Amino acid sequence: MTGHKTIKVKTKDLPVRCPPTDRHTTELHPVVYLPIEEFIDKKATCYYCGQTYELDDSND
Ligand SMILES: [Zn+2]
Repeated sequence: MTGHKTIKVKTKDLPVRCPPTDRHTTELHPVVYLPIEEFIDKKATCYYCGQTYELDDSND
């Protein structure tokens, strides 16, 4: 499936939770946590739904 947008995640929002808390989750998959901060490219794709998350550690 294509069309997923990469979701940028701030350091303060770690750990990454999929599905995100702001989504209706009942018809999605079990909650998983993706340790993207431990990955070299700071990205991870959920193995259930294919959603890609990317760590955005820029200051703002
Ligand atoms: Zn997912």
